[in-house]
Amino acid sequence: MKVSKRAQAVPPSATMAVTSRAKEMISQGIDVLSFAAGEPDFDTPDFIKQAAIDALKAGKTGYTATPGIIELRTAIAAKFKADNNLDYTPEQIIVNIGAKHSVYESMQAVLDPGDEVILPTPYWVTYPEAIKLAGAIPKVVQTNSENSHKITPEQLKDAINDKTAMFLLNSPNNPGGFSYTPEELSALAKVLEGTDVMVLSDEIYEKLVYGDTRFVSFASLSDDAYNRTLTINGLSKAFAMTGWRLGYTAGPLDAIKAMGRLQSHMTQNPVTFAQAAAVTALKDKSGAVEKMRVEFEKRGKYMADRLNAIEGITCDQPTGAFYAFPDVSAHYGRNIGDTAINGSMDFAQALLAQAKVAVVPGEPFGCPNNVRLSFACSIEQIEKGADRIQTWLK
Ligand code: PMP
Repeated sequence: MKVSKRAQAVPPSATMAVTSRAKEMISQGIDVLSFAAGEPDFDTPDFIKQAAIDALKAGKTGYTATPGIIELRTAIAAKFKADNNLDYTPEQIIVNIGAKHSVYESMQAVLDPGDEVILPTPYWVTYPEAIKLAGAIPKVVQTNSENSHKITPEQLKDAINDKTAMFLLNSPNNPGGFSYTPEELSALAKVLEGTDVMVLSDEIYEKLVYGDTRFVSFASLSDDAYNRTLTINGLSKAFAMTGWRLGYTAGPLDAIKAMGRLQSHMTQNPVTFAQAAAVTALKDKSGAVEKMRVEFEKRGKYMADRLNAIEGITCDQPTGAFYAFPDVSAHYGRNIGDTAINGSMDFAQALLAQAKVAVVPGEPFGCPNNVRLSFACSIEQIEKGADRIQTWLK
């Protein structure tokens, strides 16, 4: 059958090449240590599962309002107020089928062909594709490792021109494992004042920050920031609910209404009994999320320490999300085993084939000097993986 030009232009996920090969090897019984996962290794807490079971038993199996049940949007509004000091009414909130859907749908709602979107490296691989599917153009800004891969106010200012429609911000960051400080965010917000640039702030890793990092929502910085920002968040990462597909977007009413019109023809409401469970999750005061955060923090620190102890690898201490993003470029130009290592793709492929360790190459994220390792796995696995990498590089 004919495939549309639009679909032809979407490449298969470049991060999936190594991940799929690792899965294939594991299914053949090969002892692969995978650090490729993009999801918590914890199961959804039982009280959240129970809420979905109760909802099913109570017959909550029909359609709901397109943007989600009012109880859920009210709970999300209360979360924004309590956690982020943000005032959003339920009408300013739409629940989507995962935050990935929030990203896609929000761009469809506010971008026009020819619009430019400022996209700092490293970026999550979905962003450039979502931008292009909206007819817009990713304007990639190369950040520096000396600045922990964070875009500076000067770089942001230089990237703005009369075609710039949006600045894409992702903090805590996938794949970089860093977070912007409130001061850094304020400096970026200042640059945008007086422009027409919207901000899409993907805050899905909000609950996973480490050390003395304090999370601040971009829209809460000032009235100006509030009015130009679409805030995206979801339940996948904080509540270990990746398979439930629940994300949400909040922002100016006209944009959220436009998303609702699109969603009413695309997917309609998120899964009804999952919405009921999300209300329970968001109201939780048991500290389930904090327990997971503390565990991730320990693992992230251990992983960065182990990686830094390996010659030719440098790794910032993660301050957010669950990724270490070491620079391995000191090994480029070497031959390891039968492979010439000339970039992050070669590095990841050879590491998997020879040492049976799966990491994700940085190239598809716009950072060819780096690789991404998820620490959503046990300390024992991190220990074994670091041992294998160390031996392999020797
Ligand atoms: N944003 C970022 C930065 C992510 O890493 C992910 C998940 N990999 C998402 C959004 C999407 O999450 P979900 O669709 O599961 O809500």
